[in-house]
Amino acid sequence: MCGIYGYIGTDADAASVVVSGLQKLEYRGYDSAGLAIIDANHNLKILKQVGYVSELNRLVFKKSKELIAKVGIGHTRWATHGRVNKANTHPHIDCHKQIAVVHNGVIENYRQLQRQLIEKGHRFTSQTDTEVIPHLIEEFLAEGLKFRQAFNQALSRLVGAWAVAVISELDLDTIWIGRHSSPLAVGIGDSQLYLSSDARAFDHQVGNIVFLEDGHLGSLSVRRGLKLFNLKGKPINYTLINKNGLDKIEMDKNGYDHFMLKEICQQPQVCRQSYQGRIDFKEKKVVLGGLFNYNSQIKQSRFIGFVGCGSSYHAGLLAEIIGRELGLSTFSLDSSNFGRADVDKYVLNNSSLFYLSQSGETSDTLNALKIIKLETQALNLGIVNVVGSSLARQVKAGVYTRAGIEVGVAATKSFLTQVLIGLITAIYIADLKGMKIKSRQRLFQDLKQLPNNIEKVVGLSKEIKQLAKRILSVDKFMFLGRRLAYPIALEGSLKLKEISYKFSYGDKLGSLKHGPLAIIDKDNLVIAIVFKHDTDLSKNISNIHEITARKGRVIVMGDVNQSSLPRSIEDFIKLPSLSTAWLTPMVAAVGVQLLAYYLALLLGKEIDRPRYLAKSVTVN
Ligand code: GLU
Repeated sequence: MCGIYGYIGTDADAASVVVSGLQKLEYRGYDSAGLAIIDANHNLKILKQVGYVSELNRLVFKKSKELIAKVGIGHTRWATHGRVNKANTHPHIDCHKQIAVVHNGVIENYRQLQRQLIEKGHRFTSQTDTEVIPHLIEEFLAEGLKFRQAFNQALSRLVGAWAVAVISELDLDTIWIGRHSSPLAVGIGDSQLYLSSDARAFDHQVGNIVFLEDGHLGSLSVRRGLKLFNLKGKPINYTLINKNGLDKIEMDKNGYDHFMLKEICQQPQVCRQSYQGRIDFKEKKVVLGGLFNYNSQIKQSRFIGFVGCGSSYHAGLLAEIIGRELGLSTFSLDSSNFGRADVDKYVLNNSSLFYLSQSGETSDTLNALKIIKLETQALNLGIVNVVGSSLARQVKAGVYTRAGIEVGVAATKSFLTQVLIGLITAIYIADLKGMKIKSRQRLFQDLKQLPNNIEKVVGLSKEIKQLAKRILSVDKFMFLGRRLAYPIALEGSLKLKEISYKFSYGDKLGSLKHGPLAIIDKDNLVIAIVFKHDTDLSKNISNIHEITARKGRVIVMGDVNQSSLPRSIEDFIKLPSLSTAWLTPMVAAVGVQLLAYYLALLLGKEIDRPRYLAKSVTVN
């Protein structure tokens, strides 16, 4: 995770440009922030603060007179190695305080490198893996190499994941950059160049963008522009991409208290924009232009797989269940638990795989893609939100979710759109394969009505907030659901723990009696997600009876009629009913998001920036 931002140009406001870039990247990590500049006297200056970028901003403002600089790099940290403190905050420097490095990723062989460097006399001042980089460069410079060669040599010693930016007093007018497995983009303006972990953070001066690929190194300078080369020093040609197609990171909450609430409430609109032009309501057909070129390959695939982790895995799980109900042979893989040994060649060689990721930079999912590309003949496709992201670039084709920028760390609208795209992709494939879809008329009617129904759930905010008040003192939650409700139970549980820090566990309603029933007591609360179209609806009701019979507390959220539920339940949130089964999970997703939000709000938690988490998980 972590966000890197950098600037080199003709204006001497590098420090403030870098800080405002970091502010937009804060979703990537907010443990601490720092920057390095080369000042007017050609000295390297470092500023660091523990806490949010706003703290660093205050410092920059206070010291602005000393910070006249045309070149600067900055970092907002999500700690992987070493505690959250000033010493571990980036940028990290060499023994002579002449080389500053910011890094996103994990250097797996840092202990070994550190040992060798210490033997050679280097002194380390942090517990990070990153600090080996400035010392390595220093070491190669001492051996007589030029800066560029020293930089190349240093990066070629690293094993793991890295996006780095380096500036130095010894090489005044250049930012050195490199990427392997962590994202990095360069923004090109008229007389200035920028770099960022996320191209959407570039300011209006940037016209074109260059995305670095793995193994790309480069230099940014006003005189020479951008030069890219590989680890062997061989020049690399690059393509300029116009910035216009990209979303912009907007830092405006539009009157909402939190980005998360804004993003929850945006969902009716987001839903419309996600399927606009992709559903022909008249013909009752799905049209996915992004997949056209691969229609015949998809049609011939024996299996359809969905790969993701966290919320994206839950969306994939739903797509798997829906796909199977449509008659497809579907499966889902949790990329955070996937390795080479899990490759089932028979299945994957005959599969079309959809990789789901909001950021398109999720390291676990990119790793799964890498392994599957290497080992199998699978057709790799994407369901991604961020246009131009690593995943989007590394798959053959795909469908963008069009959720727009999501700032809140807890996924809301990105999850909803993944589920929506998962559903319409499954319908699209079922049609390609000539399968008969039952209740097509009603299904498309439901799709049309989806934004309105989501709006109705948003309208339940007050009621859900009241419920949150009543259950504020509960310490342990169990989210349970059957079949289509199960991924929503997992997602609801994830939302709740992410932002309220309460213990929460998600499981299948039916699996209770196989063990989890033992933990039912008056201090735990079960949130049962129950859908009326569940073919096993009566089993849901029996399971709830089994809980309340043991004095367990149960709240039901669902579109069932209250009269069908046991009287012994504590509360009921009635969701709008749809006429088919497959869209109810989306409606319910909004319900569990709101419950988590209000609980966290009433508990006074930091909702948009929950502790220990960051939005885009770019480390393994
Ligand atoms: N490993 C570095 C640190 O802990 C960078 C962390 C990251 O990119 O997530 O400071």
